[in-house]
Amino acid sequence: MRLGVIANRLVLVDQDTAVDLEQASKGRFPADPERVFDTWDALVEWAATHTWDEEQERLPLDGLENPVPAPRQVFGIGANYRDHLEEAARAQGHQGEIPVPGTPLIFTKFRTSLTGPHDPIPLPTRNVDWEVELVVVIGRHADHVAEKDAWSHVAALTVGQDISERVMQLAGIAPQFSMGKSFPGFGPMGPVLVTPDEFDDPDNLEIGCSLDGRVMQRGRTSDLIFSVPELIAHISGVTPLLPGDVIFTGTPAGVGVFREPPVFLRPGDTLVTWVEGIGELRNPVAAGPGYSATDNEKGEK
Ligand code: ZN
Repeated sequence: MRLGVIANRLVLVDQDTAVDLEQASKGRFPADPERVFDTWDALVEWAATHTWDEEQERLPLDGLENPVPAPRQVFGIGANYRDHLEEAARAQGHQGEIPVPGTPLIFTKFRTSLTGPHDPIPLPTRNVDWEVELVVVIGRHADHVAEKDAWSHVAALTVGQDISERVMQLAGIAPQFSMGKSFPGFGPMGPVLVTPDEFDDPDNLEIGCSLDGRVMQRGRTSDLIFSVPELIAHISGVTPLLPGDVIFTGTPAGVGVFREPPVFLRPGDTLVTWVEGIGELRNPVAAGPGYSATDNEKGEK
């Protein structure tokens, strides 16, 4: 099943168009995106046998919005691809073997940072970077879930960008990932929710992003240091995961801050972000409140 949101109403999506879910289901399923996980299993079952009514109005997919506009909890995972750890270590002059983390690095993106697949990314400074990520959407209350049971607690996968302000992220006596990654517009998601059964192997998907047509990141989720089941087992062993919660699972190599010289987002850029089998985000970059075209790369005025 491929599900989206248009004009704040749930829509069922096929390749090129969408139909209003409440109308298509003759009122069985509500239009409200915040209620979709109340009846998720019944919805998936219904969608599997639903035949598209030729008479029903088709909606264009350029109207798709954030498919999970109000999750109760948002988790982000740092340092979860080896090639990303290696680029970070290289940029910091680290020599020799790169230690692999023994436990996932977890932070939150605050909810107000989340936006849709076509929304602008407003820049607060000249130090804003991209991170393509597979996003997991929880469908079932998950409390101390074993790895082997983890996928059955996943409602769907979607595409995410973990946009990051690199000066704020590292300002202070310890890194502040949650603040540096939570400016408004720093969490584009979408374009649709895709159920795990739609993938040949949901643990092995190509992900990537391009800036103005230049491919910046390309990786595979099979290279995650902590896989989706490992992340769900780990997080749910500490804090229960609730239906509709989202997990940004981490980014592969190719971010801007570790390039030589560093590259950051600029007003007028277009950031395109994709995950195999789901679709793409296409976010224009704009100057946000407080943005100054004359700040230097360290964010000092
Ligand atoms: Zn990230």
